[in-house]
Amino acid sequence: MIQAIRGTKDTLPSDIHAWHTLESTFRRVATSFGFQEIRTPLFESTELFSRGIGETTDIVGKEMYTFLDQGQNSLTLRPEATASIVRAVIENTLVEKNPLVRLWYMGAMFRQERPQKGRLRQFHQFDAEILGSDKPEADAEAIALAANILREIGLTAFELQINSLGNTESRAHYRAALQAHFAPFIDSMSDDSKSRLERNPLRILDSKHPEDAPAVKGAPILIDYLDESSRAYFERVQHLLTALGIPFSVNPRLVRGLDYYCHTAFEFVTTRLGSQNAIGGGGRYDGLFEQLGGKKTPGIGFAFGIERLLLLLEEEGKLPTNEISCDVYVIALDDDSSPLAMKLAQTLREHGFSATTDALRRSFKAQMRDADRTKSRFVAIIGEQERLNNKVILKTMATGEQVEIGLQDISALQELLKK
Ligand code: AMP
Repeated sequence: MIQAIRGTKDTLPSDIHAWHTLESTFRRVATSFGFQEIRTPLFESTELFSRGIGETTDIVGKEMYTFLDQGQNSLTLRPEATASIVRAVIENTLVEKNPLVRLWYMGAMFRQERPQKGRLRQFHQFDAEILGSDKPEADAEAIALAANILREIGLTAFELQINSLGNTESRAHYRAALQAHFAPFIDSMSDDSKSRLERNPLRILDSKHPEDAPAVKGAPILIDYLDESSRAYFERVQHLLTALGIPFSVNPRLVRGLDYYCHTAFEFVTTRLGSQNAIGGGGRYDGLFEQLGGKKTPGIGFAFGIERLLLLLEEEGKLPTNEISCDVYVIALDDDSSPLAMKLAQTLREHGFSATTDALRRSFKAQMRDADRTKSRFVAIIGEQERLNNKVILKTMATGEQVEIGLQDISALQELLKK
């Protein structure tokens, strides 16, 4: 038996309704904010991610699915959407055509992490980006879109945390302060942290290794190193969120794993999913366009993990379940009635109703049971008598009420079905 690859999951028909509900909510809410959908390829040049995400990150360092194609080009299955979207925006000169571009995206991402509950190797994200604005209004709008989506989905067991990484100069000061702070602890710290001390000390704050905890606990706090303009920016974002009625708390230890973030960083966290506590997060990345060879363009965006949203919905007992799946189950009582039943089902579909027939040609009783199982609202029954009289019996499943109508009398059928 060939099995699915570890860390990948089949989405079965019994799960699909919840996915559709989330997907249509993303589309509807993003559209209500004026965002437009973009779709980018599943694989890109490896260099896009190593440059765009950063060599020192876990994603680029150890989690990418990278392979050589037949032309010996190094390709990578995308681990996240932002770098691909920024590449597409640069390549298609979207910001030149419109100084403020709002995009959303939904699809599969690939990271070679150790699979566990809420952590997969192929997972799915909803992603939104605002490109072109360096104003706090864009940060507040991105967070408001994310918050609206969670509200529309019906989730409540989460908290919005925000922080500021400041501008480049503030971060450089902070970086130096962190290095000075961690240096005396370094011998007792994890190998990961040892290698990050020089290259990306902010990432040490994110460390999950217990041996790093004592050093991380007393580490200096970024907010104390923000210069005046970074501080004013962060205050303005908070003011806007308050004006929009979006609850948040400031988490001074929140740093995002990716190198290109500046100013606002935010995360939606929950206590209900064990160690995979982030359902979504994002932040501002004013240096990314230049990093990827574009002209300086500010951006802010976020991504939700769809599987984690579904897990949390299940935890909260709010997973959307299947509604009625079929309008009419057309039952044929004998072989000669079967073509008429199939034809009637076709006609119903052409008129906008859903209809099924029994491809197993089972007994009347078995077909009735199947109509029940598929939650059909009506059954239409055609047997020898109906066939000879050119009639069909239409039965309402909820009431058991039944009427006989002409097999060709589509307007009468339509009337009955609309009730
Ligand atoms: P990131 O791009 O790392 O900021 O991730 C954004 C969101 O994607 C996270 O908050 C998670 O909800 C989700 N996510 C990230 N990695 C995984 C994974 N390996 N499996 C499932 N969901 C993930």
